[in-house]
Amino acid sequence: MNSYIEKVIGRVKEKYPYQPEFCQTVEEVLSSLDPVVERHPEYEKVDLLGRMVEPERMFSFRVVWQDDKGFAHTQNGYRCQFNGAIGPYKGGIRFQKDVTPSIMKFLAFEQTFKNSLTGLSMGGGKGGSDFDPAGKSDDEIMRFCQSFIQALYRYIGPDTDVPAGDMGVGGKEIGYMFGEYRRLKGNFENGTFTGKGFSFGGSLIRPEATGFGSVYYLEDVLKHDGETLKGKTIACAGFGNVTWGICRKAEELGAKVITLSGPDGYVYDPDGVLGKEKIDYLVEMRGSGRNRVQDYADKFGVEFHAREKPWGVKADIIMPSAMQNDVHMDSAQKIVKNGIRYYIEVANMPTTNDALRYLMEQPDMIVAPSKAVNAGGVAVSGLEMSQNSERLFWTEDEVDRQLHRIMHQIYESSVAAAGRNGLGYNLVAGANIAGFERVADAMMAQGIF
Ligand code: GLU
Repeated sequence: MNSYIEKVIGRVKEKYPYQPEFCQTVEEVLSSLDPVVERHPEYEKVDLLGRMVEPERMFSFRVVWQDDKGFAHTQNGYRCQFNGAIGPYKGGIRFQKDVTPSIMKFLAFEQTFKNSLTGLSMGGGKGGSDFDPAGKSDDEIMRFCQSFIQALYRYIGPDTDVPAGDMGVGGKEIGYMFGEYRRLKGNFENGTFTGKGFSFGGSLIRPEATGFGSVYYLEDVLKHDGETLKGKTIACAGFGNVTWGICRKAEELGAKVITLSGPDGYVYDPDGVLGKEKIDYLVEMRGSGRNRVQDYADKFGVEFHAREKPWGVKADIIMPSAMQNDVHMDSAQKIVKNGIRYYIEVANMPTTNDALRYLMEQPDMIVAPSKAVNAGGVAVSGLEMSQNSERLFWTEDEVDRQLHRIMHQIYESSVAAAGRNGLGYNLVAGANIAGFERVADAMMAQGIF
C-alpha cells in the first residue's frame, strides 16, 4: 500500500481507538485509493488525506425533553460537518439509541464521497441523537425534535448545512424539526431541510428514492452480466423506508423480495413481499414504533426466525438494507456457500471490512458498495433543494427520470474510475475513487486550510 495512505490510516487508528466505525470506514475508503495517490505525490505535502479524514467541524450538544408524564430526559445530540469543498454540508439525522460520535463521523465521512458521486453540489454531513423513538408518543417526538433544533438551528441553513432523514427520522420528524427551525429563524429559508412534506416543499419520490435508486443501480449491474431482474429473488434486511422502496421497484420490474429483518429476527416470505396489502403493512409497522418484524409473519402466516439474520437464505441477490455491520464473516461465508453472485450493499457500511474483503475476493461474486447503491436518496434530496430554489415542483415522472439518470451515471463513473486505474470491474474501489477525485480536486483548488 502507498506509504502516505498507510500513514494516514495509522494516525486515525492511533488517535481514535474509541471510534471503531470511523476507523473502519477510513481504512475501507483510503485503501482503495492506492493508484490515485501514487499518481499524486503532491497530496502528501499539503496533507490532503490527513485533512480529508478530519471533519471541518462537529457539534455536540445536550438535548433535554419532557415525556408525557412530565419527567425530563437528557440525550446527546450531534452534527458533523465533515467536508464542504463541493457544496453545502448535506446528510441525514439519525435518532437511534446507539448513536455515538464514531457513528456520526463514519456516516458523515461516507456521505462526503456518496454526495460527490451524485455529481450534485453537496458536501458531506450527518447528525443525530441517542434518543430512541421506539414506543414514544407523537407529542414526545415533537418535543424532542423541537429541543434538538433549539440547539442546532444556528448552524444549519440552505447554503450552510441541509439536514434530512435517516434511521428513526422520517417525514413526521422532519416536519417537527423544520417547524421549530422556522419559528426560531422567522424565515422559511428555502426549506433548509429535505424530505419535507409535499405541502411545504418536499419532493415527490423522495420517500421512495433510496430504494428505487438501489434497484436502478442493481439493474445496471445485472445488465453488465446480460441479465435482468425478471424472476429474481432478493434477500433484504430491515423493513423501513429503504426496504419498502426496494420491494415496490423490484415488483414493478418482475423480481421479488423474500426476506425482511428487524431487531427481533427475520421473516421469510417465499411468495415475495408483493402487492399493496403487504407493502402498505410495512409502512404501518414502521410507523407503529414497535420495531418488530415478527408482526409481518403473524399477519401473513410466513416463517419467522427469532434473533437470526437472513443471510443464510438462498436468493439470487443479497441486499443488506438495515444498518452498519450487519454482515460479519460468518454471514459472508454462508452467502458464498449458497453460491450467490450479487452482493449489493444498501445500508451505510453494512459489511465489516474483513467480510467485505472476503466477498470481493470471490471470483464469481459481484460486490456493489452502499455509497453508490444508496445515493439515490440524497440525490433526490439534491433535486428537492433545486426545486425549492426554483420555487416550483417537478412532476413525479421528472424526478424519477432524474433519479434514474443519476444512478446510471454513478454506476458508469464507478466502472470508469476502476477501469482507468487498472482495477478491472471493481465497483467498490471505483466508487471510492470517483467520489474521492472530485472532492480532492476541489480541496486542491481551494488552498490549504
Ligand atoms: N440519510 C440518507 C443517506 O444516508 C439521506 C441523506 C439526505 O437526503 O441528505 O444518504
